[in-house]
Amino acid sequence: MELSDKYKRLGVRTNADTPKDARQAAAFGAQGIGLCRTEHMFFEPARIGAFREMICAETVEEREAALAKIEPMQQSDFEGLFEALGGYPVTIRFLDPPLHEFVPTSEEDIEALAKAQGKSVAYIKQVIASLHEFNPMMGHRGCRLTVTYPEIAKMQTAAVIKAALAVQARHSEYKVLPEIMIPLVGEVKELKFVKDIVVKTADEIIAASGTKLEYEVGTMIEIPRAALTADEIAKEAEFFCFGTNDLTQMTFGFSRDDAGKFLKSYYDNKIYEFDPFARLDTVGVGKLMDMAVTLGRKTRPSLHCGICGEHGGDPSSIEFCDAIGLDYVSCSPFRVPIARLSAAQAAIKAKKA
Ligand code: PEP
Ligand code: MG
Repeated sequence: MELSDKYKRLGVRTNADTPKDARQAAAFGAQGIGLCRTEHMFFEPARIGAFREMICAETVEEREAALAKIEPMQQSDFEGLFEALGGYPVTIRFLDPPLHEFVPTSEEDIEALAKAQGKSVAYIKQVIASLHEFNPMMGHRGCRLTVTYPEIAKMQTAAVIKAALAVQARHSEYKVLPEIMIPLVGEVKELKFVKDIVVKTADEIIAASGTKLEYEVGTMIEIPRAALTADEIAKEAEFFCFGTNDLTQMTFGFSRDDAGKFLKSYYDNKIYEFDPFARLDTVGVGKLMDMAVTLGRKTRPSLHCGICGEHGGDPSSIEFCDAIGLDYVSCSPFRVPIARLSAAQAAIKAKKA
């Protein structure tokens, strides 16, 4: 069925972390990538070493040396993503690594890192101990990393922009439009701090290339404070993407990794009827989203908004996203067909209504 543009409201994007995921998503009809989790590009054994060197660096010079190893890997992956999507928008989220998932734990890996860094095993163990956090998901992750280590955002910006310029040069038929997404923002000044680094780095590279390239800088809305102050955040953000995994975790105040242990008692006692990490809690989390879209567009009418939490692939959540005026939903590649179907059904329902 052909729907008029007015009713073709909700686009399907997909979450893809690697060029392979992106090709899969494109084959399923995704019209862009709504979330590339860049830290996921480093799980491979051949790459994790450089990432660990970055995390465990002691000085700016050591960190920059590790980042110099990482930049070409990221650039080639970004080129693969832009090419796989053939000119559809690609949203690249800057690093958001819960540190405990990346620091080495086995003796063998610790020894390898010590060797690469020219440090003793005892010293590396001390660094690892100093990185320990009681609540890693609410710890030193997302944009907080860039506030502490601005050189990380500089490297990621360079990798994104150089990749976009290279793909644009190879494919004049595409309009490559990188969307740079800053995670875990809760305060507009935090976003501005990171955005200033991104814009300065990107504009210098584009000017030096002698060509033109458009890009956007936006943010995830995944901390309740960001939703509550969305009118302020939209002064700096060109787009919002709802990270409903974290937004659910922080709105309910329970951990996405631990809630499974006690939610069953909540279902048995009919306190909750479903897992709010799988199906969007439209009453609470949804209210924050609706408010954020309205406040954000009041400040910036052109603000485009999407969702990239797990809920982006869930039919009833997709219907809600359509109702509050989101522009797209993004989900993992294998959920793209069902998400497209749900978005079409939501549009038909809205047309009938
Ligand atoms: C989210 O929080 O919804 C999100 C997409 O980011 P992550 O799951 O990587 O925290
Ligand atoms: Mg998140």
